[in-house]
Amino acid sequence: MKQINLKCPYCGSTAFLRPASVVFGRNAREPKAPFYVCARYPACNSYVAAHRGSRLPMGTLADPALRRKRVQAHATLDRLWQSGLMTRRQAYLWLQAKLDLPEDEVHIGRFSSAWCDLVIDLCSQFHIPDRRAA
Ligand SMILES: [Zn+2]
Repeated sequence: MKQINLKCPYCGSTAFLRPASVVFGRNAREPKAPFYVCARYPACNSYVAAHRGSRLPMGTLADPALRRKRVQAHATLDRLWQSGLMTRRQAYLWLQAKLDLPEDEVHIGRFSSAWCDLVIDLCSQFHIPDRRAA
């Protein structure tokens, strides 16, 4: 597998392209899906999914807390367009304007915890009911 030079932001080790089964074991939904995983995993619990075709990382490596935060931010943003309030494209354009970022930088997979909190705050102003809680 082709591999780019990526460092773990937590411990500074190199991250290696490895199959999902390394991280999720037998519970992996797609055992061969590519992930960049910290060389010190599992001592350093840090990884990020990669694109299947290009094998490029989908964002920066994340520890458990940041992974949870990104999932939460994604879910909050997804609710905006899944509710029918706007299209998916409109939701991303709205977020881009609110965050004052260039379009190609609006990727929750690259956001820090603080940016994820900002996304969650911004989206929550629409008061869309959480269908999972209903
Ligand atoms: Zn690490």
